[in-house]
Amino acid sequence: MFATPRRVYFRPECRTCLVCGAPLAYSHPVWRKHIIGLSEVRWVGSPGYRCRTPTCDRRVYRSAEAEGLSLKGSTYGMDVLVTVGRLRTVDHCTRAEIHAELGQRGVIISTRHVQGLYEAYFALLGCTAGQQVEAVRRQIEQNGGLVLSLDGIQRTAATCTRGHPRLRESGAYLRLPAAVLCGPARTHDADPDPHRNSPPDLRR
Ligand SMILES: [Zn+2]
Repeated sequence: MFATPRRVYFRPECRTCLVCGAPLAYSHPVWRKHIIGLSEVRWVGSPGYRCRTPTCDRRVYRSAEAEGLSLKGSTYGMDVLVTVGRLRTVDHCTRAEIHAELGQRGVIISTRHVQGLYEAYFALLGCTAGQQVEAVRRQIEQNGGLVLSLDGIQRTAATCTRGHPRLRESGAYLRLPAAVLCGPARTHDADPDPHRNSPPDLRR
């Protein structure tokens, strides 16, 4: 069991108004909640500050560090979220195995929350897809696209670097042209299949 949670309050990193330069003053609590991390549970507060000049901008300043500790509406820290994602994507653990692993580390969590954290991890990972393509855009354009092959084939010395011969002969490779991979960002029109990009259920 965790001891009494340590209370931590994060002031905004910015101490003066970005418009007039006047010192900021405390305004109101933006949020306060428990954040369950891998090493401890903390009671975290994020107070909001405003410019003291009455006629100046009324924006609320708050701590970027505090905002980065957890997702909005979640009581689990980003370190727990990343651990769930790593255990699934790198170690290929099931939901029950992830739940057991976190329990051994002292993290109190239900299997339903494990699934929720993995879905959040999946969503955050999707947000970085554009950045990953940008990082290799020149190489993809030089190659004229990117060749994808089906996974699930037993790896051997022959298939590790060149792909499975039978699959290669069948033409089952999918070549995505560079224009598709490096094109403009997809607009968020209504998707006819809203579950198409949903993360998998971790029970298996
Ligand atoms: Zn100001």
